[in-house]
Amino acid sequence: MSGILAGLSDARLYSACVVVILYLTTCAYFLWPRRRPAIVTAGDRTASATLIAFGSQTGFAAELANRTAQSLQAAGAPVMLASLQQINDEILRQAKQALFVVSTTGEGDAPDPAAAFVRDVLDSSLPLKSLSYGVLALGDREYDNYCAFGHRIDQWLRHQGATALFDVIEVDNGDEGALRHWQHQLSVLSNSPDLPDWEAPRYERWRLTARHQVNSGSAGDACFHIELRPQADVSATWQAGDIAEVDPRNSTWDEKLEPLPHREYSIASLPADGAIHLLVRQMRRPDGEPGLGSGWLTAGARVGEDVAVRVRSNPNFHAPQSDVPLILIGNGTGIAGLRALLKTRIAEGRHRNWLIFGERNAAHDRFYGDELEQWRAEGKLERVDLVFSRDQAERRYVQHRVRECADDLKRWIEDGAAIYVCGSLQGMAPAVDAALSDVLGAGTLEELAISSRYRRDVY
Ligand SMILES: Cc1cc2nc3c(=O)[nH]c(=O)nc-3n(C[C@H](O)[C@H](O)[C@H](O)COP(=O)(O)OP(=O)(O)OC[C@H]3O[C@@H](n4cnc5c(N)ncnc54)[C@H](O)[C@@H]3O)c2cc1C
Repeated sequence: MSGILAGLSDARLYSACVVVILYLTTCAYFLWPRRRPAIVTAGDRTASATLIAFGSQTGFAAELANRTAQSLQAAGAPVMLASLQQINDEILRQAKQALFVVSTTGEGDAPDPAAAFVRDVLDSSLPLKSLSYGVLALGDREYDNYCAFGHRIDQWLRHQGATALFDVIEVDNGDEGALRHWQHQLSVLSNSPDLPDWEAPRYERWRLTARHQVNSGSAGDACFHIELRPQADVSATWQAGDIAEVDPRNSTWDEKLEPLPHREYSIASLPADGAIHLLVRQMRRPDGEPGLGSGWLTAGARVGEDVAVRVRSNPNFHAPQSDVPLILIGNGTGIAGLRALLKTRIAEGRHRNWLIFGERNAAHDRFYGDELEQWRAEGKLERVDLVFSRDQAERRYVQHRVRECADDLKRWIEDGAAIYVCGSLQGMAPAVDAALSDVLGAGTLEELAISSRYRRDVY
């Protein structure tokens, strides 16, 4: 060594030492075990800020958390971005709203950097009644325990009294459609319906072949049955439960337009129908302007015109694979997803189906009423309970019917039934959840959710 040094001039020796010291310092920085680093946040650290916590193995969850933070910031919402290894009970207790972006590794395990969070936080009990949260769970469906760590966080938060803003969004292998669904939730959360898509869907050509209003005279906003037929080269394959992503005003095909964010609609038909059927409620913005997506589908696009649409697979809402009884609960345009499920069950010869559906008035809001009645008469739909909220003095909703039918519901669940809920996230979904929890017991409902016998597609 001294021989080598002796061969170097003073200046070169000095430069070599600086390089070595820099190298060693860098190595020490990255390799030194840091159990509880000081919190590194992007943005605002106040109780009003949305906490965005990520648990990342390969960096993908961290990247998505970063994009989430950017989207919310673009909408003017304050955010606090942190790795799970930086999250402790005090931070969780202070937060009012939190989004978890987490991957699952190995046999359903947490990513390595989340080890301390699992040990110190997930094994403890915390009062989190004032926390609302959402979970983006990254995984790979090829593996057992798909998205298990995301679901573990979700269950733990529920047990601490926190309220889910929406159901866990599972992302299979970086699926862009599922990530757009997450972005839809971000736009609802930040009340910014115009937040741009991170990645625009690869839209295809579907011809708008039919459209008619199905609730003339209704006290509610107009609802339209819409049919879209695939044009050349479009492989029209989907399953009941899948979603149509729509490009408002065909913006990606029009060079004069800025790309507009996608909108999602539950598909109400099967490929055997030869067309995608949608049931779309015409929304209005606070300034009276038609909603971007619903305005386009119900009034803007002309019948006979091609529209830009893409089908998004939504495995969480596919029909049960085995011949178990099925309880379908929903309201409003939620009948769309339930109708596709009923069609697929009937096509498979599975007739033990029970629909509990709510709208406003029987006189105007019997969506697909003739078809449902025919299925019931033919024994393909064993039971139908329609609940019209405004046909009597007191307001009645599907959750009331769920409570009234407690004994029958328990019997169906004992027979192995699955429960599928589709419709409003505001009002209906939490009220039905509470009713089911009271009727069946919170533990049973949780077990049903874990074993995929309780599924929801609510918006
Ligand atoms: C998985 C999924 C399935 C869906 N299926 C259907 C369906 O089958 N039929 C259907 O009609 N719609 C469905 N929707 C809702 C649909 O995607 C749009 O959110 C809805 O059409 C309003 O969008 P818009 O572009 O017309 O209105 P926007 O231009 O987004 O604005 C309309 C106004 O309504 C408010 N708003 C937007 N979305 C909601 C909301 N969800 N609840 C309350 N207020 C809101 C906005 O703040 C704004 O003031 C579904 C959504 C999801 C996520």
